[in-house]
Amino acid sequence: MKSAAATHSVIEALTHQHPNADTELHYRNAFELLVATMLSAQSTDAGVNKVTPSLLAKFPDARALAVAPAAEVEALIHATGFFRQKAKSLTGMSRALVERHGGEVPRTMEALVKLPGVGRKTANVVLGHALGVPGLPVDRHVLRVSHRLGIADSDDPERVEQQLTGALPPGLWTRASDTLILHGRRVCKPEPLCEECAVTDACEFYVEASREGKPDPPPSAGTKRRKPAGASPRKKALARRRR
Ligand code: SF4
Repeated sequence: MKSAAATHSVIEALTHQHPNADTELHYRNAFELLVATMLSAQSTDAGVNKVTPSLLAKFPDARALAVAPAAEVEALIHATGFFRQKAKSLTGMSRALVERHGGEVPRTMEALVKLPGVGRKTANVVLGHALGVPGLPVDRHVLRVSHRLGIADSDDPERVEQQLTGALPPGLWTRASDTLILHGRRVCKPEPLCEECAVTDACEFYVEASREGKPDPPPSAGTKRRKPAGASPRKKALARRRR
């Protein structure tokens, strides 16, 4: 696995490739981002952004959502999938905010993960984006890209969070996560578009796949064995050498 300095350098290069990386969820305060992030499980951010305006117009804060009728919440969030469980989590989370935190979103990981339906990833999204507390959310994109780059080596999101936060300064955590997520969505997809990537030289997956005589790229932890799409890395490496 890469050193902290090399990890920092790779993240810096990717932030140049994706200078505007940020959460794509729409929100105006920590409560709205908490709701949106909970709804984003098994859904797209664009899909969540379509339902949150009407949900939050009707139930704008924890006190309102805590006593919302389940059927009404379910109808409003139906399009995001798993709507019954999500409605239950949203009202449970809101009740806990009212009972334990005066209706406000707490500013610590410890308190956030005690709310119904809130895990570390959701807590880190809210801490980092809405509360100004450094947090590094690890989702499937962060796992895939960080494994391929060689800046993390575990299938456990919490362990990967520890590895990345251990290598990067706190002020970079949230941006690093946003950047890895955007890179995973646009470039380092399950079938990666390596020809569009700014960090091929630092990528273990790419370098391995480019080695002459090696039949296939190595499997990346938590990632199916796949070859980069387009011209193969080996062919591109050979072409580079010929130039
Ligand atoms: S070189 Fe390819 S596999 Fe490596 S990070 Fe870039 S897109 Fe992903």
